[in-house]
Amino acid sequence: MKQILRFTLLFIPLFSLAQLKSPSEFLGYELGTQFTSHHEVVDYYQYLAEAEPQRMKLIEYGKTNERRPLLLATISTKENMQNLEKIREEHMKGLNGEGTPDKAIVWLSYNVHGNESVSTEASMQTIYDLFTTKSSYLEDVVVLIDPCINPDGRDRYVNWYNQFKNSPNQVDPNSKEHHEGWWSGRSNHYMFDLNRDWAWLTQVESQQRLKQFNKWLPHVHVDFHEQGVDNPYYFAPAAEPFHEVITDFQREFQVTIGKNHAKYFDENGWFYFTKEVFDLLYPSYGDTYPTYNGGIGMTYEQGGSGRAGLGIITSIGDTLTLKDRIAHHHTTGLSTIEVASKNVTKLNEEFIKFYKNKNYKYKSYVLNGNPDKLEALTDLLSKHEIKYKVGDNSTVKGYNYATGKSGSLKSSHKSIIVSTDQAKSTLVKVLFEPTAKLSDSVTYDITAWSLPYAYGLDAIASESNVTGTVSSSQNISSEIAKDDSYAYLADWNSMKDARFLAELLRNKIRVRYAHKPFTLDGISHDRGTLIITKSDNKQVKNFNTILTNASKNHNKTITSTNTGFVESGKDFGSGYVDVIQDLNIAVLSGEPTSTLRFGEIWNFFEQQLNYPISVLDEDYFSRVDLTTYDILILPDGWGYKGFLSTHIKEKIKNWVKRGGKLIVMGGAIDALTSSDKDFTIKEKEIEKDSTNTISSFEVSEREQIKSAITGAIFKATVDNTNPLAYGYDDTYFTLKLGDRAYKYLENGSAVYLSEGANQPVSGFAGSEAKKKIAETLIFGTEEMGRGQIIYMVDNPLFRGFWENGKLFFANALFMVK
Ligand SMILES: [Zn+2]
Repeated sequence: MKQILRFTLLFIPLFSLAQLKSPSEFLGYELGTQFTSHHEVVDYYQYLAEAEPQRMKLIEYGKTNERRPLLLATISTKENMQNLEKIREEHMKGLNGEGTPDKAIVWLSYNVHGNESVSTEASMQTIYDLFTTKSSYLEDVVVLIDPCINPDGRDRYVNWYNQFKNSPNQVDPNSKEHHEGWWSGRSNHYMFDLNRDWAWLTQVESQQRLKQFNKWLPHVHVDFHEQGVDNPYYFAPAAEPFHEVITDFQREFQVTIGKNHAKYFDENGWFYFTKEVFDLLYPSYGDTYPTYNGGIGMTYEQGGSGRAGLGIITSIGDTLTLKDRIAHHHTTGLSTIEVASKNVTKLNEEFIKFYKNKNYKYKSYVLNGNPDKLEALTDLLSKHEIKYKVGDNSTVKGYNYATGKSGSLKSSHKSIIVSTDQAKSTLVKVLFEPTAKLSDSVTYDITAWSLPYAYGLDAIASESNVTGTVSSSQNISSEIAKDDSYAYLADWNSMKDARFLAELLRNKIRVRYAHKPFTLDGISHDRGTLIITKSDNKQVKNFNTILTNASKNHNKTITSTNTGFVESGKDFGSGYVDVIQDLNIAVLSGEPTSTLRFGEIWNFFEQQLNYPISVLDEDYFSRVDLTTYDILILPDGWGYKGFLSTHIKEKIKNWVKRGGKLIVMGGAIDALTSSDKDFTIKEKEIEKDSTNTISSFEVSEREQIKSAITGAIFKATVDNTNPLAYGYDDTYFTLKLGDRAYKYLENGSAVYLSEGANQPVSGFAGSEAKKKIAETLIFGTEEMGRGQIIYMVDNPLFRGFWENGKLFFANALFMVK
């Protein structure tokens, strides 16, 4: 007895110390039999970090909109972890073509789409195996694991599923647990797709993650996803088109990795496909972005997603379970690390090679324009660790973005010069070049995104290295509100100006704005100029402080004047000077709208403009008293047909006629206005090619793209006397996402494609689509009774990155009367 007791005391505690708990042991249920809540995932990673302090480092790199922690685990052998910072520094020397690195860096990102929820489950088994059965992989590899890129979306899905799941779970695909509905967990809190945001960094998750990513720039990055239930599994190599900057090695190594995965899948009799659907072009994905930063970026897609639950019957009658899905993602995760561990030298050599001078055709991009827009651009560049300079006084020749021909531009200390003679040259080329060269035109995403167009800047792409000096940031010295001023003036031509206005309105400051250009104190002011008078704001306590703070907060110049008597134009008391009131604004959400298009508007108000908005869901919309609102927004979407009953249409129209302002976007336009005489907007029809052709079944995909514009840039004409276009020049580069086509509005065509403007300046457009969009409306206004309707055929808020479109949206809110 005594002996046994001694045995117990000596051995059991030692044994339990040594044995790491698997996810199943830690969570108290077998992995794959439940969905794990995000906080439980966090608990498991924290447990591992405590149990394996010598082999793991866990950081919280940020928080989501809903305050969930964002985690990054770094793991390797004890020895490597002791030298972690040295390993990182040696690896990063590669950006200068230097260093003698001898470790491979692999980064695994899980669950960017929240309802593709197998990922995070698989991550737990993968990290556990790396500490136990597969620890040999770590000898020459540092593995970074982000267990959940999108915790808000994932928990939205998991909580929903747990509420509606049958007990035991039901594999019948008709059961509720397989029908997640509109407010799905795919996107983040603001319904943004985080796998479209790597380059634009509009979301907090992306912004915080990129800081970590830039510290490591891994050799290999995997983004784990899920696709439809009936698809088996997709892994590298990716599909065409590949961007031309992708190196031969990057292509080849995708094949090496794919073959290794295939070996395991073949052994298990699992199905998979490669080289299809998922291309490498658009730079804002979790596969392309790391690729343009020198890594092997890949997307892995398991069949399942928000539809699959814990188990579902597929169309061929098999049952797909969460356990199967975990097994597959777990296998490819480990297989990726295995391949990396066997190719450490090659990966390091090629990474250094990637960062050697590429000798791209365009050596410098020179940009001029509105200082606010330049500032917005340099903010983005800094986040990507892209260096830029300011110009000296010289004339730069090259490709002119505005004309599409060779031209020249004066470079000054106000110009920004971005050179490809820097570590991030490939990323610079991809983001700035006028047109991305495609190896094929069939892609499932936009084909153009060039930043000079997106930011509305004049630009030249030069084939020579343009000199410049390192910029020093300068603060605008604004004339701060004084007691003896009659009014203060502020210009209106950027999102920054809109944010400044929004702050004033939130503080109940009354602001006027000019419908006609005017000259005062020898200075000319454009349409849209904000006029903040003292007498309008007599009742406002701390008027001067509010104004001064707003000016400081937005680094915004305001000028004071002692008179409202203008030298030319209209005086401040004129009918051509309108008052902007604090507004009540609502947006429709739910089935009629697209989650993404709704989310862009929601995010615009709360994170960009900082102005309140009410969200009206379709299911109680008919009961809402619209007279409470000044503005109603109908986002783009495909589901309006069922929603817009005669009753709802009449309700909306009556509200407009009594003075409401309606903003109608994309697909909502057709659904609301077609065959209704109250609206003057008319769709443009074209005769279909009537020749009776026959083509083989196989080429049909190519035939389809004739009528496609998946995302291309067109040069539009702007009527900047229309309040919808205040603050703009006479041209605007619009990102077209389809062939929606409306005729010009009689007096209200603020932005439109003029004759001959149906050729994209950048990106791909099919021949039929080009015919259809010729001479059509982009943005316009129409009066109805005492109210206004604003049409947005194109989407100025698309993915939150088309910076130069945002002022149109602000104009629709504040300038259109
Ligand atoms: Zn996905």
